[in-house]
Order: sequence, then structure tokens, then C-alpha cells
Amino acid sequence: MHTGKRTKIIATIGPASDSEEQIAELIRAGVNVFRFNMKHNVKEWHVERIKRVQKVAKEIDIAVGVLIDLQGPEIRIQTEQGKSIEVVKNDLIFFTYDFKEATPIMGKYPVIVIPHKSIIQNMAAEDAFSIDDGFFEFEVVESDKNGFIAKSLDNGSIKDHKSLNLIGKDVDLPSLTSDDLEKLDIGAAAKVDFIALSFVRTKEDVHTLRAEMDKRGLKARIVSKIESEKGVDNIDAIIDETDVIMVARGDLGVEMPIERIAYLQKEMIKKCRAKNKQVIVATQMLQSMTENSRPTRAEATDVSNAVYDGADAVMLSAESATGKNPLKTVEIMKRILKFNENHTNLFTNFEPQIKDQTNAIVRAAISVLEDKFLNIDKVLIFTETGYTAHVLSSYRSKTPVMAISGTKEAVESMTLDYGVIPLHVAFPTGDFSFNDMDELLIKDGYVQKGETVLVIHGHRWKDPGKTNALVVLQV
Ligand code: PEP
Repeated sequence: MHTGKRTKIIATIGPASDSEEQIAELIRAGVNVFRFNMKHNVKEWHVERIKRVQKVAKEIDIAVGVLIDLQGPEIRIQTEQGKSIEVVKNDLIFFTYDFKEATPIMGKYPVIVIPHKSIIQNMAAEDAFSIDDGFFEFEVVESDKNGFIAKSLDNGSIKDHKSLNLIGKDVDLPSLTSDDLEKLDIGAAAKVDFIALSFVRTKEDVHTLRAEMDKRGLKARIVSKIESEKGVDNIDAIIDETDVIMVARGDLGVEMPIERIAYLQKEMIKKCRAKNKQVIVATQMLQSMTENSRPTRAEATDVSNAVYDGADAVMLSAESATGKNPLKTVEIMKRILKFNENHTNLFTNFEPQIKDQTNAIVRAAISVLEDKFLNIDKVLIFTETGYTAHVLSSYRSKTPVMAISGTKEAVESMTLDYGVIPLHVAFPTGDFSFNDMDELLIKDGYVQKGETVLVIHGHRWKDPGKTNALVVLQV
């Protein structure tokens, strides 16, 4: 069982954290979900590590989610023979979609390839863009159909394969590349729990991904990464279609003016909670711990603020994938989360917008939890699909919530839900009975004698969407 904090931690796995021992340590320290960033490492690396995480989670008997993060329409540059290019302010560089197109200009300017013809052809004088997470800004000086010349506004060394962000301009690229589809095959074979898609711009991007997942029989939850102006503009429709939103502050902070990020984070979290969707705050949360053994004051405050904003989960990227201190980073993150969760007041005055039977029952459960006379110690949810737990978690209750499902997929789908401890317990069939329930729970120590427990369940075991009962139980 995994207790101790309510906000979930996602750790990106990498060479600093991929041994069985490290995975087990990180889970025990508080990691709920491992993220596989598909833009790094070869497919075999991911296949092997996904199996490793699933094996370790099973051995130590803690529900852990696996999330694969697809690159989507992310733009990456190519340099000649993969060599770095040194630039100083005002240097000119020729950008084209294929090195062949640069032949007439070779030797006159350094050449960088952006392997998308439509982007090259859409750039015009004065357009701005940046390379390497915003470190190098450029302005287009002149353009024609095969390429454009842009002036560097910064000094430094531009490395091959770095990301490129257009500023204030939409990209006309498919939401899923052929490479993403191959990686989706890995996800389907391994039955992963979450598929994250980068640069989600419209609800159609989510539809496209869901259709490809359906073709593969993959039932994972979709995480839409919001990291472009268009994604922000279409956020309401995207939230309606997706299961989870990730505030992907790395690219978002490059594609949008940086002063807007905190505001956008708060708005997205508020909107997700109102529609009972899970929401992740990602990127540079404890970045300096990649090198150092203590975070900066600003980073510790950033993690704390994600709690006060009401995020379900916070994410580590390089800190856990390639950093020097993955375990220590998770331990410190957990300490920060725990302390601040106890000082939040997210539970009251919250009215979700979704109206359905499960929401009505959960609303009633919340009144019971708010009642000081009853003094509920624990909530127990019996859920076939995880939906009741996803809904209840939007309220950010301080009472521990144990969500029990007989379906492994449902259990793992709840690993991102704030305050929910997902448990895999085989359900009987037929009508719900408290005798069965007692046997399932007391025997395994999930509830203790003397506790007052609020049970949320449906009339029959294994009947999804039919949650219809609340029972206050003295154990
Ligand atoms: C981000 O940009 O914040 C992010 C999480 O995406 P990635 O790590 O794939 O760049």
C-alpha cells in the first residue's frame, strides 16, 4: 500500500533510475507513475524498462502507472554531419528542409535543416522562432520556397537534434508521426496505463490518438500535453475530450510569453478539476537537483504552489532520468508535497460541472465527509472502471481514499488521482454484500477495527457506471 502524501509524483525514467533496485526505491519513496519519454533511447530500451517497472511494482505490490510520452508534432533541427554550429549575435544561418536544397549556398552560411517542407515554406521576413528550449532566438531576414535566412539574436553553440519552437505561429503538421505510431505499438503490447501526446492543439488531435489506440485495443488514459498557443486557445474543447491534461511548461514557456505561465497553470488546473479531469504540472520543478543535493528556494516554492493550485500530480524530467540524485529528489518532493497538502483548503466551495449519477453520489459523499459529527476516518470506493475515484479526487478531500477495483487497468488508471490509494482486490460476482466486503478488506488490513468508514459502491459487483450507494460503517 502506498500512503503518506496525496499529490502524485511522476518520475521520468532514464539511465539514472532504470535498475530494478532504483525503480523499487523510487516507488517506495513516493513515485506513482513512471514516464517513458519516447524522444530519447531506442525502442528496445523502452520495451525492456517498461517490463522492469511492471515486474518491480508487482513484486512489491504497489500500484504503479506506466506513461509513454509521444513526441507528436515536435520540431527538431538537423545540423550538417551532426556537428554543432557556433553562432554570435547577428550571424546569418540558412534554414531549409533538405541539405540538397542548400547546395548553391554551401560555404556562404551555416545550414540547418528543419525536416518539414511546410514550415520552411510558411516562414516570412520578421517571423520569430527559437532553438533549444528558447536558448537561441532567431528572426527571419528573407525567405523563398526552398529556404530562408535568419539572424541569430544570441551567442553560443547550437547542437544537432535540438528542439525548434515557432513563436506566435501555428504548425501545420500531423498530430501523430509514423514514429509515434510505432511507439504506440509498444504501448499496446505492454498494456501501458497512460499515453501522453505532445503539442496537442485541438480536440481532433485527441480523437486521432484515441482512434489509433482503439485500432490497437489499447485502453490507456490520454494525457494531452498543452505546450502551444493553439492548445491554450482550445483548452476547453481539449479538456472535454481528454482524460488528463499536462501543463508542459518547458515548451509552453517558449511558445508563449513566459510571464503567462503561472496564470495558465492555475487556469488549466481549475478547469480540469471542474470537469473531473486529472491535471499534471511538469518541467523544471526541482531542476537544480539534477546536479545538486538541495533544491533552490524558488523550486521548493514552485512544487508547493502546484499543491495550492490543486494539481493531481507533479512531474520530474531530467531530475530523475539523468540527474545525480533521483532518490533524494523524490524524497524532498514528497516532503514538500506532504507539508503543503496539510495547509491547503481546496476541499470546500468546489462545484464540478459534470452532472451524472456518479457525480451526484460523490457530491453526497462529500457532504458526509464535511459533517463533523460523523468524523469519517477513511473513504472506501468500490469501482470497476476507476471513474468514481477520478470524480471524487477532483474534490481534493483530506480524508484518505482507498479505491478498490478487481481490474488491474482500472487500478493503474487511478495512480494519477489526487489522494486516491488504488488497490487491486478480486471482486466476487452478483449483488454487493457487506459480508464479502468485510472479508475482502479487514482480512487484508485495509480497514482497522474501530474506524468509521464511508463506503461508496454500486448495487452489484462488477457493474460499471452504476455507483448508487453510500454507507457509513463502524468497523
Ligand atoms: C515540456 O515541454 O514541459 C514537456 C513536458 O515536454 P518534453 O519533456 O517532451 O519536452
